[in-house]
Amino acid sequence: MKFCYECGAPLTEKYLEREGMVQYCPACGQFRFPIYNTAVSMVVLNPAQTHVLLIQQYGRTRNILVAGYINRGEQAEHAVAREVEEELGLHVREINFQRSRFFTPSNTLMLNFSCVADSEDLSRMTDEVDRAAWFPLADAPDAIAPNSLAQNFLNDFLHNRAGQARADGPQQTEKFQKME
Ligand SMILES: [Zn+2]
Repeated sequence: MKFCYECGAPLTEKYLEREGMVQYCPACGQFRFPIYNTAVSMVVLNPAQTHVLLIQQYGRTRNILVAGYINRGEQAEHAVAREVEEELGLHVREINFQRSRFFTPSNTLMLNFSCVADSEDLSRMTDEVDRAAWFPLADAPDAIAPNSLAQNFLNDFLHNRAGQARADGPQQTEKFQKME
C-alpha cells in the first residue's frame, strides 16, 4: 500500500506503541493498516462423518473445498453456514475453526472450518458449482487438487482428526491409521 485509501496522499511510516512502524497518512492524521480480504474454506462432512464434500467450480476440473468471502460485518461462522447453504443447499452444524493461512495471490486471509451437513442430498446445488461429490475420507487427499490451499487444509484436518483418535483410545486409532 503506497497511498492512503481515503484521500490518496502518499503514505509515510510512523511509530505506534506496541505495534512498531506502521504506515501513516499525514493528510488524514491516521494510521493505515494493511487491507486484505477474508474468506472461509470448509471441510464439509456428511452426517456420518465418513465422507467429505469436494466441488468443482468456474469451469475447472480440479476438486476443491467449498469456500467464499466473508461479508463486511458478518461473523466467520455465519459465512460458513451461508456459503454452504447458498452453493449446495445444505444446512451445516458443528462448525469448528481449524486453522488459517494467508493466500497471497488473492490477498486473502483464509479461515478453514470443519462442519457437518444435515444431509448428503446434493440436488439443491446451485449453478455456482459445476460438480459436487462426497469422497471417502481415505480417498479425498488423492482426489483434491494437488498443491492447493484446499489440499493443505484437508490434510491438516485429517491429521488432527487422526491425532484426536489416538488420544481417544487404541480401538479408534486403528480405524484412523488406515485413513492416513
Ligand atoms: Zn489520507
